[in-house]
Amino acid sequence: MDCGKSTLALQIDHNQARQGRHGLVLVRHDRSGRPQISSRIGISRQATEVADGDDLRRLVRSRWADGQRVDYLVVDEAQFLSTEQVEQLAELADDAHVDVYCFGIATDFRSRMFPGARRLFELADELNPVQVEVLCWCGRPGLLNARIEGGVVAREGAQFVVADIGGADAEPADVRYQVLCRRHHRAGDLGPAARQPDQLRLV
Ligand SMILES: [Zn+2]
Repeated sequence: MDCGKSTLALQIDHNQARQGRHGLVLVRHDRSGRPQISSRIGISRQATEVADGDDLRRLVRSRWADGQRVDYLVVDEAQFLSTEQVEQLAELADDAHVDVYCFGIATDFRSRMFPGARRLFELADELNPVQVEVLCWCGRPGLLNARIEGGVVAREGAQFVVADIGGADAEPADVRYQVLCRRHHRAGDLGPAARQPDQLRLV
């Protein structure tokens, strides 16, 4: 969701590093398609890609074994973590005193919770909504991240599709995301811009 959370993740990392702390930045399915956190305002940082089945405890311990300090973790797109990986993060926080900051969205395009996000809601010590408000085209708060396929709000399909992998060599797919209020998500109404006939649209 275009709400500045990746920018906030990078800010947290910057603030921690400035205090002399050492951390790892982890990401799953970043929109750049490369292992880095990229924010929509153009800031980016190298990150470690987390794959399905990776044990995050083992990842941190391997850094320790190499003599690196890991005082904190910043995890972007954390909704894509498995429930087991979220539980591994809780163990790192409790038993190894690693501070863990997770950033992500709660619900998928069908307005259902991602399994990883659900486990984070259950286990996190603190939950903070990102303060950068995103509005639906109608002006109401944007609550839902709709998947638009062929100009229509998708109601079913795979939960995990990274639509906006926008690398130079990526084909522009006819899939995108748009933040909508609940009313317009239910109605599938993408607003007046989407209703204009094609011949009147400046492309
Ligand atoms: Zn609306």
